[in-house]
Amino acid sequence: MAVLDAFSLQGKVSVVTGAARGIGHALATALAEAGSDVVLLVRNPAAVVDQLADLQKLGVRAFAVGADVTDAAQVEQAVGQIYAELGTVDVLINNAGICVHRPALEVSAEEWNAVMDVNVNGVWHCAQAFGRRMVEQGSGNIINIGSISALIVNRPQWQPGYNASKAAVHQLTKSLAAEWAPHGVRVNALAPGYVKTEMAPADDPKFKPYWIGDAPMQRAAEPAELGPTIVYLASDASSFMTGSILVFDGGYTAF
Ligand code: NAD
Repeated sequence: MAVLDAFSLQGKVSVVTGAARGIGHALATALAEAGSDVVLLVRNPAAVVDQLADLQKLGVRAFAVGADVTDAAQVEQAVGQIYAELGTVDVLINNAGICVHRPALEVSAEEWNAVMDVNVNGVWHCAQAFGRRMVEQGSGNIINIGSISALIVNRPQWQPGYNASKAAVHQLTKSLAAEWAPHGVRVNALAPGYVKTEMAPADDPKFKPYWIGDAPMQRAAEPAELGPTIVYLASDASSFMTGSILVFDGGYTAF
């Protein structure tokens, strides 16, 4: 196989959670550009009609399925709907996530639970529901969006729940990778540094001196910069890679 052919996702079906904006939107576009059919698993499918049209213009099939990742029954229903429509799923990107900035002593029970519910339980529900089908079919590829927050403590904002949740995502990635490797299912995590989205307003003067000033590359990433890396992880280009945490942070964790 010629080396660039290994990056092709032609004929594959990929599901991206939380794909309506930010990083998820960019990852769905990248997967489609590499030839994959794409399912946007979002809470409000009506809000992604234009996005679906843009994806279809790339020559792939694109669908939206409604589900809140914190609700295991909704996720299970979405999986059934996707398999009924497309017959298989090759790639799952667990991207949906939320973050709360608050010093530890002020974090409410609701805030703590909300972060854990989306970032940990949501990844778990989707990994288990899609993973069950992937193990049955003997092939599949799951990529969890972790974070440098699993590796360092961010400044100046305190976000203890988010940091703990992403550490859980990294370790769940390794656990599932080890368990499902014999079944032909790979599981890796992508751990981005700061990426300019609504979650991470890197140009806000409150954050900029730390998020940008402390970064070796002196900038945050654009969401589209994660595209080639997700195609690498989703494709045969990374065929011998499982249980890995791929840090993509402009050198932020080097200091
Ligand atoms: P974002 O806030 O722009 O997008 C998050 C998406 O998740 C939204 O579309 C939202 O609707 C969706 N979502 C939230 N709760 C959901 C639920 N219960 N069910 C379904 N969808 C839900 O944030 P982003 O920056 O694009 O973040 C995407 C992922 O990347 C997250 O997991 C985040 O933790 C991670 N990440 C972001 C950065 C960054 O700097 N932006 C850095 C490292 C990791």
